[in-house]
Amino acid sequence: MLIVNNKLPEGFSKLEPYELHQHFKSLDIVELNGVNPHLNPLILSLMLHGNEPAGLRAIQNIMDKYEGGQSLPRPVVLLIGNVDAARDSVRMLEGSIDYNRIWKRRSNSLIEHKAEQILNHFKSKTPFAVIDIHNNTGSNPAYGCFNKLSIVNGHLARLFSETSVYFTNPDTTLSVACCAFCPALTVECGLPGDISAEKRAFNLINELLNRESLSKSPLLDSELTIYHSYAIIRVPKNCTISFSPNADTDFYFKENLDFYNFKTLKFGETIGYRNNPEVKLQIVGVKEEDLSDDFFDYIGKKITVKKAFIPSMLTCNTRIISQDCLGYIMESYSVEMLK
Ligand SMILES: [Zn+2]
Repeated sequence: MLIVNNKLPEGFSKLEPYELHQHFKSLDIVELNGVNPHLNPLILSLMLHGNEPAGLRAIQNIMDKYEGGQSLPRPVVLLIGNVDAARDSVRMLEGSIDYNRIWKRRSNSLIEHKAEQILNHFKSKTPFAVIDIHNNTGSNPAYGCFNKLSIVNGHLARLFSETSVYFTNPDTTLSVACCAFCPALTVECGLPGDISAEKRAFNLINELLNRESLSKSPLLDSELTIYHSYAIIRVPKNCTISFSPNADTDFYFKENLDFYNFKTLKFGETIGYRNNPEVKLQIVGVKEEDLSDDFFDYIGKKITVKKAFIPSMLTCNTRIISQDCLGYIMESYSVEMLK
């Protein structure tokens, strides 16, 4: 059953992420009318990951600006994310599922069934756009991600940042599902607490609330940088990981590995070491192809770059590496790819 609320709880704009569970269940929906109820709604998703407060902060500031949601210029639908994980300030609860990997039906699980109901509900509303707001666990610039190479999505991304990423894998995220029926963007607001990136999210939402339409005019390469994320780097399951040369773990990575995000990792660069000669990093391409031998050499204990590439979302958080991935491999795309 979908739970749809029509107002925000008293004091919403002062709530901390760990207090959300006192007012909402995970994946609750809140629909706010605003002053032009006939306009297509803007759908905003916050805290699908429980340790990423940027969406909550940006939306709290929007609600403050528009009298607690009473004077929004267009209807807004909020998707409240993983409040149970937010209570513990973790991406997802141990043994639970990642709430940004449930938006494609792959099993009979209750959560995927609920995600499907939510998507049908969203689709029935003919949204103006869907914006899913996140933070990163490594150092990255603020960037928008889209999953369909359309000019409208390019403009949407540019309203948030001149840096953008196009990805189709993982194909289970909210924005991948929503781009099938409306403009959709995932926004990555840097590390939690990055105020300037939160401000970008606020400005993006505010702009979308006040716009009649999204531009369909072609973009220039100077206006938007697009990276295509085409492979994911994973540490094999059950391998141990650290960032310290003194730990007896299967892998240990260079400190400040996230420094390389959105920069070129050049041929010969060392990214880390392996103590266990039996294991290597797994690299999977967008078509699920195994690219594990293409990007790194293993020389003695050293793991060095075999083929230069631009990484994103490299993180120094060992828990996130185990739960999700070490990072992504990207290539540059021209805006001419947008149709
Ligand atoms: Zn996230």
